[in-house]
Amino acid sequence: MESEDYLELGGIQRYAFCPRQWGLVHLEGHWEENVLTYGGQKLHRNVNKPEFSESRGDLIVSRSVPVLSHRLRLYGIADMVEFIRDDTHGVELSHRSGRWRPLPVEYKYGQSKLSSCDRVQVCAQAICLEETFGIDLYEGHIFYGRPRRREVVVLTDALRQETLELTHAMYRCLSTGMTPSPRYGTHCDRCSLVETCVPALSQRQTVSQYLERML
Ligand code: SF4
Repeated sequence: MESEDYLELGGIQRYAFCPRQWGLVHLEGHWEENVLTYGGQKLHRNVNKPEFSESRGDLIVSRSVPVLSHRLRLYGIADMVEFIRDDTHGVELSHRSGRWRPLPVEYKYGQSKLSSCDRVQVCAQAICLEETFGIDLYEGHIFYGRPRRREVVVLTDALRQETLELTHAMYRCLSTGMTPSPRYGTHCDRCSLVETCVPALSQRQTVSQYLERML
């Protein structure tokens, strides 16, 4: 793959969670299922049904919406984009009267996280929609399955900057073709690639290298 290629948008969530996991999947082609990834796929099978796009009064719900940003050089499929009637800040849609403001909604199987990994994914989707429609967006939503609740993601300058920096970091990795080193931590307990990665072994090697240096 050339560094000019566009990267898959969903990878930004993975890179924010762990750069090594992103490298194992996107550079080396590894993949393993665990209960979290299986649950996530099941949830997305239920959500990603383009034929179930619907319209209810001042709301249009579109599922499995292709998104692209030339600025971020990312492409992907947004689980859901809601178009909310907004004659002041919205955009015109074909075959619809009035103006409509897009709102990306990402579905996650698990629960809300302290880490910003899910939020940067929604932010990247929002940036794609901003480019496509020539509009400024202020928020996106994440629907978590456990417990079932929606979280509002405010598209702050800091979140936008973090999204941009993660994208640059992904492209730097892509250009070197080198999978980042493991970062052993509690997040490894949730990683389906733990047996491929063997992060604890790497940590032991780091300690032995450290001792060698010290001696
Ligand atoms: S096991 Fe840990 S360090 Fe390795 S890829 Fe998964 S999260 Fe990253």
